Amino acid sequence: MINTFSETHRCLRCKVPMCQKGCPISTNIPGVITALEQNSLETAGQILFDNNPLSLVCSLVCNHEKQCEGHCVLNHKGVPIQFGEIEHYISDAYFDKMPVIKEERNHKKVAIIGSGPAGITISAILTKRGYDVTIFEAKSDLGGVLRYGIPEFRLPKRILDRYHKKLLSIGVKIRFNTTIGGALKIDDLFRDGYKSIFVGTGTWRPKSLGIKGESLGNVNFAIDYLASPETFSLGQRLLIIGVGNAAMDVARTALRHGVQHVYMTSLTDEITASEKEVDSARLEGAQLLYYKIPVEIDDTGVIFKDANTGELEHIDSDSVIVSISQDPKDKLVSTTSGLKANDKGLLETDAEGHTTLPGIFAAGDVVMGAKTVVEAVNQAKQVADHMDAYMKSLEA
Ligand SMILES: Cc1cc2nc3c(=O)[nH]c(=O)nc-3n(C[C@H](O)[C@H](O)[C@H](O)COP(=O)(O)OP(=O)(O)OC[C@H]3O[C@@H](n4cnc5c(N)ncnc54)[C@H](O)[C@@H]3O)c2cc1C
Repeated sequence: MINTFSETHRCLRCKVPMCQKGCPISTNIPGVITALEQNSLETAGQILFDNNPLSLVCSLVCNHEKQCEGHCVLNHKGVPIQFGEIEHYISDAYFDKMPVIKEERNHKKVAIIGSGPAGITISAILTKRGYDVTIFEAKSDLGGVLRYGIPEFRLPKRILDRYHKKLLSIGVKIRFNTTIGGALKIDDLFRDGYKSIFVGTGTWRPKSLGIKGESLGNVNFAIDYLASPETFSLGQRLLIIGVGNAAMDVARTALRHGVQHVYMTSLTDEITASEKEVDSARLEGAQLLYYKIPVEIDDTGVIFKDANTGELEHIDSDSVIVSISQDPKDKLVSTTSGLKANDKGLLETDAEGHTTLPGIFAAGDVVMGAKTVVEAVNQAKQVADHMDAYMKSLEA
């Protein structure tokens, strides 16, 4: 844990703040540091949350080493300003006392489908602008991947509970266990007076390997496991196919749930996960195996082809987890005539977030594919402005 105050004194006050340039949502880092030096938690907190309603989450889960901290000029001399820790300190201290200034209610209803980072962002912004916001969430709790993907040891669920409480306190209505495209469809929402609909449904269909054995009882997909790891019995030896950030989360979670040996396989010698996550997974006991092309899964492990030599090898394991990313489910597209998606299932939108149907907007992973929290927030923030403009244009 760093001393936040001495950390701010190390900042060089660059004329062109590279840290801000490196942040996908352009956080005003110099402004935050100045406010902190002037002892104003309120100003620092306001700068953070006005720009990024998910600041408290991003302070923990952003890839700072590639973003703000990775761009800090102090990297040339040694250690960059640890802005992630500064942001966490401020956003944590300020979140519960943050005043929410709302414009006068305009009595226009907006439906938000999905309560992940994109849905939370739009809900917060449009509520402040006077709209009546209702979130429809398929799962039983708030947060999307933040709650059902990222493990507790990286992002404590109590932070999401605080967001839940905050949304309720500003007047957002939330319907959990409600999948739009099931009993209720998008057309029903328009029928019931919602002026505009936001789709932030993410990517929840695991990509499959398409090889023999993938449906066996010893095989699972990463996001299914991470949603409730305590309900799985993986045995002593686990093989994870994939080396992205989700795979690192699976490895670290499984090791915390008593699995003794965890192996992760890559098709090449490259690892897509961030350095920090890989270092942690290794330190905690996971081993990485390179140039392994999975060919077939059986009850006792996986047959791999060596990408260099072409030789076949059986690696024993009690269970296998496939972690090679996700695509969107097609529930909304298949139940809403005229709502178009591309061949990967990603919703078609223009630069302002309009889908192929009037009044329906989308942002986040369901548009961009599996990306990051800060990118979902950044896109949603811009789409909120266009939804606002669209609803105002209806009056004209
Ligand atoms: C295991 C894992 C770890 C990750 N770690 C990080 C990380 O450390 N840092 C980072 O920046 N990013 C990380 N990411 C990526 C990041 O979490 C996503 O990019 C982000 O959550 C996308 O936000 P979203 O709002 O678009 O979608 P989601 O978070 O997927 O939320 C979508 C929500 O919509 C709901 N929904 C879906 N369909 C319907 C429907 N028809 N009706 C009602 N509700 C519906 C879902 O239940 C879900 O709650 C990780 C992803 C995974 C899978």
